[in-house]
Amino acid sequence: MAENKYKGFSTRAIHAGEQTDTRAGSTGDVVVPIHLSTTFIWDEPGRAHSEFEYIRSSNPTRNAYEQKLAALEDANYAVAFSSGLAAENALMQVLLRPGDHVVAFDDLYGGTRRLLEEVFQGIDVSYVDLSDSSEFDKAVKENTKLLWIESPTNPMIKVGDIAALARSAHEKGMLVVVDNTFLSPYFQRPLALGADVVVHSSTKYIGGHSDVLGGALVTSDEVLHEKIRAIQNNAGAVLSPFDSYLNIRGLKTLAVRMERHQQNALRIAQFLAGHQKVAKVLYPGLPDNPYHEVVKRQASGFGGMLSFELHGTLEDAKSFISRLRLFTLAESLGGVESLIELPSLMTHVGVDPEVRRSIGISDTLLRVSVGLEDADDLIEDLKYTLDN
Ligand SMILES: *Cc1c(COP(=O)(O)O)cnc(C)c1O
Repeated sequence: MAENKYKGFSTRAIHAGEQTDTRAGSTGDVVVPIHLSTTFIWDEPGRAHSEFEYIRSSNPTRNAYEQKLAALEDANYAVAFSSGLAAENALMQVLLRPGDHVVAFDDLYGGTRRLLEEVFQGIDVSYVDLSDSSEFDKAVKENTKLLWIESPTNPMIKVGDIAALARSAHEKGMLVVVDNTFLSPYFQRPLALGADVVVHSSTKYIGGHSDVLGGALVTSDEVLHEKIRAIQNNAGAVLSPFDSYLNIRGLKTLAVRMERHQQNALRIAQFLAGHQKVAKVLYPGLPDNPYHEVVKRQASGFGGMLSFELHGTLEDAKSFISRLRLFTLAESLGGVESLIELPSLMTHVGVDPEVRRSIGISDTLLRVSVGLEDADDLIEDLKYTLDN
């Protein structure tokens, strides 16, 4: 991967993993083609023609995507799965056995919670507020194998000090996983902060256009990588060639998109923070946000996700949403279009109401994935809807 030598993120995003095909007789594609062939020719029994034999084991388009993603996370390896949860499932199969204990953020992605509780039975999980590192120390047990960090979380947009948590976890012999979906490798590189494995739902910012489902595991640990690769092949939840292509395409513009997501998010957060109908705004890019300093230390940006709470009732929140014109009412995030959702009735409706309240998810808390529209238009829509 000679392209890794380039320091600049965008240069790597565009060139890493791309191999312009100049062999005799080749077409000279500049863009990695979508290789759909499920099987590959052998020169004679026992001698394959190339490194490729069968699509599940290895595919040229998926390989190119994996190399590009690894280069962007400053990692040796990336393995692409058919969804974020398929990637998480593979990782848990590699790392966890019945009787193991896991410490995870209390504000964890709901699908990750379901995997740990319903799919991997016999795993003991403690959900703690990892924005307070001392809470982590208190939760650790004899059999704690894994620390699962998501930073920032959603919908409460809480942040953990990844380096401090990783140091403490490693002292106790645990492995550290960071779900880096929200900031993407453009703003945050958890392996450099001490994480052992990075998880991605590429369905979000990496794909970037709300049109492709995918996930990935990224690590520089060769032994761990081999185990992940074996599960990918043996269990088969691989990313398809077409989806690999879309993710390659997404990564090429990740830097410019993330910058614009962030600019828009900051403008919206500032506007909301100054509006009398808004009770609070959760966005670490605001200087008075409790996580502003830690994000500045461990990441190069604050991302495009924010939450805010309206004064009033659930009915007020629903009415507000129904009158917005530019913000689409939908789950998911990270696409070019701005999305809004009401966690208490949507993404987090499955979370026990008591747990929901203890985390801080109120009936009027709204989560926004700020898109790439003109910030002035987004703010005008919010202002008109709040004022009328
Ligand atoms: C969406 C998401 C996932 C799950 O990914 P899928 O691609 O939907 O399977 C995991 N973690 C976070 C933080 C997510 O936002």
